[in-house]
Amino acid sequence: MPTPSGHDTPRRTVHVIDRSGWGTSGAYPAIRALTLIWACLTCQGPRGIPQKHRFHEDGDWFTCDRWDNPCGHVDMYVSVLNESRKG
Ligand SMILES: [Zn+2]
Repeated sequence: MPTPSGHDTPRRTVHVIDRSGWGTSGAYPAIRALTLIWACLTCQGPRGIPQKHRFHEDGDWFTCDRWDNPCGHVDMYVSVLNESRKG
């Protein structure tokens, strides 16, 4: 995949679980594709390499990405969803 030049911080497209429909009529996990600046929100250090994670829920299979940041800060899915909504 080509990397855009002129940016110091790489971006990655990852798939995360969006449970914001829970508690409403759409009580179902949704997989969202997000393109994020690949830096930790807490310390701006590089995030870890995403790994595909497949799981079973409510009779369906879902695939999302999970990553561990080398800095030790944990990215919650709700945080990265908020990050992408802010643009
Ligand atoms: Zn960090």
